[in-house]
Amino acid sequence: MRNSVVAYSFRHFPPLMHRSVPLFCLQRCLNRHPLPSPSTLLFKTSSSSSSCALLNPFNFTGNSLFRKMERYWSGSSVNKNKGMVEHLQRYGVIQSKKVAEVMETVDRALFVPDGSSAYEDSPMSIGFNATISAPHMHATCLQLLEKHLQPGMHALDVGSGTGYLTACFALMVGPQGRAIGVEHIPELVAMSLKNVEKSAAAPLLKDGSLALHVGDGREGWPEFAPYDAIHVGAAAPEIPKPLIEQLKPGGRLVIPVGNIFQELKVVDKNEDGSVTVRTETSVRYVPLTSRESQLRGY
Ligand code: SAH
Repeated sequence: MRNSVVAYSFRHFPPLMHRSVPLFCLQRCLNRHPLPSPSTLLFKTSSSSSSCALLNPFNFTGNSLFRKMERYWSGSSVNKNKGMVEHLQRYGVIQSKKVAEVMETVDRALFVPDGSSAYEDSPMSIGFNATISAPHMHATCLQLLEKHLQPGMHALDVGSGTGYLTACFALMVGPQGRAIGVEHIPELVAMSLKNVEKSAAAPLLKDGSLALHVGDGREGWPEFAPYDAIHVGAAAPEIPKPLIEQLKPGGRLVIPVGNIFQELKVVDKNEDGSVTVRTETSVRYVPLTSRESQLRGY
């Protein structure tokens, strides 16, 4: 069993996986959904990644291990938002009631392109060489940020794409808080506004506590700084300074860092202004880059 995991996860195997998914849980999942032999897995991996590469070499946003595990439940009865949330709870990705509630409240189907299988635990292309992240990554980031998304707090979502996470943040911080999305592709911002308007977060967009802006997220969004929570939905070569500057003491930034090999970093700003950085897990996100580079295909 362990060999199978190593065989297909290889360099992307999250070294600190146990922090987000206790090993016993992983073992339980693998027991429930036995993996095929290493050779099958290697074949599957290479065939799926090459078809991805033809479309977009970064056409996924997720943690490789979950991405593979998901194949064993996406085709089953997971066809409802609640079912998706229950699966993520069962896998130990969603650990709190609050994250489960917000993911149940914000229907993912409103944020994926028409005709996509909304509840599959897989990232999906949303055009412009961007993707909506996989549900397990959304859940992981919500879990990591939960304590910094209390009512009245300020949250920034850099690379807001479809607006899904911004909508979740807005519902968590409520009408007295602020949830700001920054996305550099104007067409995606227009699309995300339409998505949010159809969702449970629509009243927050109307009252102004949720806003989605066109901008270069590497600069953050100073207007509503400092932020209790900052999420970055694209991988940066290094942590942008303005984001650390716009983090409140006691606040938390969650950001994928790296190029081909990326790690999800958790940056906590201490009360004295110093920062503590730790690695949560290995991930694969589209790059945090310039608009030109993204539209060129990186
Ligand atoms: N978290 C979002 C989108 C993830 S894809 C979701 O799940 O829907 C990453 C997004 O970051 C893309 O939409 C991409 O256009 C955006 N992006 C990349 N570089 C950026 C930058 N410098 N400034 C703002 N947005 C950026």
